Amino acid sequence: MKLPIVRYGNPVLRAKGKRIETFDDGLRELAANMLETMHEANGVGLAAQQVGEALQLTVIDIAGAEDQASTMKLDGVEVEPKTSMPLVLLNPELALGEETAIGAEGCLSFPEITGDIQRAIWVKLRARSLDGERLEIEASGLLARALQHEVDHLNGILFIDRMSAATKVALRSRLKKMQKENAPR
Ligand SMILES: [Zn+2]
Repeated sequence: MKLPIVRYGNPVLRAKGKRIETFDDGLRELAANMLETMHEANGVGLAAQQVGEALQLTVIDIAGAEDQASTMKLDGVEVEPKTSMPLVLLNPELALGEETAIGAEGCLSFPEITGDIQRAIWVKLRARSLDGERLEIEASGLLARALQHEVDHLNGILFIDRMSAATKVALRSRLKKMQKENAPR
């Protein structure tokens, strides 16, 4: 089932996600609905906060982003990123490489807004699968960027927080308007 996507201005986007301790059918259903919602919206990632749930749960699928390369290791073994999608990640913990790059990002909670964001080129992520099994992912390129964007969401951090001051000034009136429209009444 497709879920409504929460937009900037809704306070749930600023909530830190609760750790998931129970790996049950309700969780599997939420993850399946999030995958459907992300695919329908042509997104590369979606965090639980973006469907109104402050939980440590995110889904990612970079298979449709043909123009941006990624590398991926799953539990230490090199895999083809596109055929390893989609990812459902619970309680993720991220370690960042030192080298960074600037790249354009968008977010399903900020329709029509993009901005250049500096991110680590390489990351290592530890998380749980939907079955509660531990997994470790090393990633570079677009997948590394997507993982950082989504783990930020799970901690209540939004991509606008990482934009340059000049970009934020340029977007200020649009963001204010969005915040007003989506604030709780
Ligand atoms: Zn986002």
